[in-house]
Amino acid sequence: MMTTSRRDFLQKLAVSAAAVPFLSTDVFAGLRPTAQGSVLRVALMGLGGYASRVAESMQSCKRAKITGLISGTPAKLDEWGAKYGVPEGSRYNYENFDKIKDNPDIDAVYVITPNALHHDQVIRVAKAGKHAICEKPMALNAAEGEEMIAACAAAGVKLLVGYRLHFEAKTLEVVRMRSEGEFGKIKFFQGQCGFRIGDPNQWRLDKALAGGGAMMDIGIYAINGARYMVGEEPIWVTAQETKTDTVKFKEGVDETILFQLGFPSGAVASCLSTYNMNYLDRFFLNGEKGFAELQPSTGYGPIEGRTNKGKLTQPHVTHQTQQMDEMAGIILDGNEPVVPVDGLEGLKDLKVIDAIYRACATGERQELKLV
Ligand code: NAD
Repeated sequence: MMTTSRRDFLQKLAVSAAAVPFLSTDVFAGLRPTAQGSVLRVALMGLGGYASRVAESMQSCKRAKITGLISGTPAKLDEWGAKYGVPEGSRYNYENFDKIKDNPDIDAVYVITPNALHHDQVIRVAKAGKHAICEKPMALNAAEGEEMIAACAAAGVKLLVGYRLHFEAKTLEVVRMRSEGEFGKIKFFQGQCGFRIGDPNQWRLDKALAGGGAMMDIGIYAINGARYMVGEEPIWVTAQETKTDTVKFKEGVDETILFQLGFPSGAVASCLSTYNMNYLDRFFLNGEKGFAELQPSTGYGPIEGRTNKGKLTQPHVTHQTQQMDEMAGIILDGNEPVVPVDGLEGLKDLKVIDAIYRACATGERQELKLV
């Protein structure tokens, strides 16, 4: 039986390991007799809206903690540094963050900046020898995505994409039911993703920073969802664009796109991506023996859903908390998620996005080769 003093000692050790940000990698390695006990030490890059949500959610993580910060705004570095206990020596700006390579207290950098910056920033993170977690969309196009994958492979670091729904319990239950044949042969998927975007001056409506419009931001959920719900890679895409507001949605910034995907089995998907309609957050999967419906399907939750067998009742866990704990397991222990979150997964969505834009421009069906 464990003595009280030994239990106290172990508890203190656990507390101090979690609380002391300057522990070196070697010291952590010493605390890692089994990989399950290890903690992923993460620097957040881009301290904006989504990073705030990630940072708050990470306070409940068991396996991930914030040990570094990267921002162009000194006041944010001070404020976040004080709030999350990140010492000055682990705070960086966009000019000097390559120095992170000399920081033994950081294992990975989570890039949460506007889309156009992901490519260069992930490559710099890789060159600094740190694992990269990158927000979606991974990059502006497939060519950029391929360069990021190559840079991470060359540096021997992992590249993960912030696909939080790949760890969400109700989503995973539908994936399990589909993969075990409970819906029979899959015939059809419908993904409706959109919201009415506000401030016309935000980076999401600036082609240079966003790489496009709704498709890059919210339509990507329908693409990604179609792939993991159907469980196949699409082999063709057709797409049609409509625009009702050419002032807000300038050249190259898509407002609304309808697109259709075809899969090798003959299953088809019909999807809507828009920045100009509210109440669109719904996935529907139809098979010969059953169906699944998730609504909301991609918001921060709780995700709600039902199948032909009844309501989905898996408990809600804050997506970003779950994601970061699972990503710690992927990076530190080599765990394999049920639905991948690696660079290749991000690249596949970018290939579909490239093809959707080509289909809109030409009016022609585009063949896809994702595998
Ligand atoms: P945001 O505008 O709230 O934050 C962006 C941050 O990047 C800001 O702190 C800004 O100061 C900083 N930044 C650095 N360089 C910049 C530059 N040159 N121009 C503009 N800003 C610059 O945006 P956000 O909502 O946090 O989105 C950031 C990324 O996260 C995007 O890629 C977005 O798609 C992704 N995101 C993902 C989810 C999700 O659920 N997975 C949700 C929201 C956003």
